[in-house]
Amino acid sequence: MDNCLFCKISRGEIPARKVFEDEQVVVIEDIAPVAPHHLLIIPHKHVVNALDLDTGDNALIGHVFQVAARIARERGIAEQGFRIVNNNNAGAGQSVFHIHFHLLAGRNLGWPPG
Ligand code: IMP
Repeated sequence: MDNCLFCKISRGEIPARKVFEDEQVVVIEDIAPVAPHHLLIIPHKHVVNALDLDTGDNALIGHVFQVAARIARERGIAEQGFRIVNNNNAGAGQSVFHIHFHLLAGRNLGWPPG
């Protein structure tokens, strides 16, 4: 997508603090972190949000969670607890309309979320 921020980051056209990349996802530091660990796991494929997924994306979403778990272990935050957040549509806080998953850890994460 020509005008999509996360497509541009995925293609390397906009700089980002990249912590991991493979053929399916790129993982970057959030530009406005709300926790000591705040990463964004972004599929390269342009999908708007969960409402835009089809069954062909099942393996991709599974991969997102595998990447999140691996990064949590590597960062030593697996045991203390971490959260994976996916906001869908503006009413839930989605501000970038290219599916992404927040990986949050490093502070007490309250429940229910705001
Ligand atoms: P959403 O609100 O769930 O859509 O999450 C979008 C996230 O992208 C927010 O946490 C923003 O801080 C983050 N963000 C926006 N622009 C950039 C950027 O250029 N680099 C890294 N993170 C960004």
